[in-house]
Amino acid sequence: MTVTGILPAKQGRAPAASRSDQADDLAAALRARVAGEVRFDPGSRALYATDLSIYRQPPIGVVIPKTMADVEYTVEECRNRGVPILGRGCGTSLAGQTCNVAVVVDFSKYLNRLTALDPERRTAEIEPGIIRDDLDGAAGRHHLTFAPDPATHQYCTVGGMIGNNSCGVHSVMAGKTVDNVEELEILTYDGLRMRVGATSDAELEIGRAHV
Ligand SMILES: Cc1cc2nc3c(=O)[nH]c(=O)nc-3n(C[C@H](O)[C@H](O)[C@H](O)COP(=O)(O)OP(=O)(O)OC[C@H]3O[C@@H](n4cnc5c(N)ncnc54)[C@H](O)[C@@H]3O)c2cc1C
Repeated sequence: MTVTGILPAKQGRAPAASRSDQADDLAAALRARVAGEVRFDPGSRALYATDLSIYRQPPIGVVIPKTMADVEYTVEECRNRGVPILGRGCGTSLAGQTCNVAVVVDFSKYLNRLTALDPERRTAEIEPGIIRDDLDGAAGRHHLTFAPDPATHQYCTVGGMIGNNSCGVHSVMAGKTVDNVEELEILTYDGLRMRVGATSDAELEIGRAHV
């Protein structure tokens, strides 16, 4: 068989790095900076290839951050290489939300604390990986409840509930997850970390004074 269009290789041009070399390079860069776990082995990728949907897609790798700095480093390293990222709580989504060709960031193992609870204001400050029933249990000691309660309430994380705007029977009484979130600290893919939420009159005045 004769084929046409074969061109001479350009001299001195290095062969393009394979995908697995690029993943190894990313894993090494992450291990150098992240205090939590960096798992790019086939077993971990297989474990995170699925959630509670019918989809199956091994991720590029998995990061299990111990601190918010770990999350920032992960986003930065991925951004520098144009690699997608995907947050994950308990993985109980039904439509493949936590399966993709991406670096999966699992918040459920370490970033799962209740950091403050104010029964007077009926607010709590939490990390995104907290299990919904752990928050509800702490609120219950003050005769309060966190109303949204999907059927997976014993396992699902509040971060995942925010991602899905989860509901549940008691959301009819007191609103879906979106109706019960006061403020979020967010990190964008381009590295901007900021708080978003309602702006009080006092904050508006400060803002006007600086315009
Ligand atoms: C048997 C069964 C019953 C269910 N019943 C209900 C129900 O009654 N009501 C209901 O609303 N849902 C229900 N669900 C769907 C699901 O359980 C809920 O939506 C649940 O709240 C998801 O939480 P999770 O921690 O598993 O989130 P995950 O599945 O891990 O993630 C959900 C989404 O949030 C994103 N995410 C997670 N953490 C972060 C983070 N820190 N930063 C950015 N993005 C993040 C993920 O990328 C994903 O898009 C049910 C599911 C099952 C399997």
